[in-house]
Amino acid sequence: MVSNFFHYLKDRMRPHLSSMTPREAFAKVTPKREVLMKSARHNVQGYIDAIQEEGLGEKPRTVILDYKTSKKLEITPEYRQQLGIYAMLHEEHSFAPEEVAIFFLKHGQELRLPVTFELIEEARAACRDVGLRTTSTQINDYPKRPGPLCKYSSGQCEYYGLCFEGRTPQEHRELVKIRRH
Ligand code: SF4
Repeated sequence: MVSNFFHYLKDRMRPHLSSMTPREAFAKVTPKREVLMKSARHNVQGYIDAIQEEGLGEKPRTVILDYKTSKKLEITPEYRQQLGIYAMLHEEHSFAPEEVAIFFLKHGQELRLPVTFELIEEARAACRDVGLRTTSTQINDYPKRPGPLCKYSSGQCEYYGLCFEGRTPQEHRELVKIRRH
């Protein structure tokens, strides 16, 4: 996968090498990485793996890229929706990118989709739908689920203090059992 990624970067650098040093070409093709984008309107956020500026000369293009390690070389409906949400977030933040893409690390290949009005509308509808199905004022709709993610070797869930109010998850489980009987 590392080798595939290396060759992918090399291919992207090639058109620039006639007018730049390898170091400059590398800087030119290095995308913005792990970009956090949030939408207060849709209550959604995500880390975009990479945002690439492409195109030589006066017509730059913005491409949102997600890296996948999956075996299948295919933009599934789920991947399409994820890319659509990224395009929607980017549009809300500044402007709609020209394309979205998945780079399949196992295959060393990239598949792209143009960003259309429909792609972004479908993403908006999906976010609205999730919002409608998950919004609740009933605390019982979201019971605590103590598990390995509450505390882990390098840290703890950001809601830990709120969830257990000084008790350990084990003490909390015992308390729930007592209350049930
Ligand atoms: S601390 Fe609370 S919110 Fe966080 S993983 Fe544990 S039960 Fe879930």
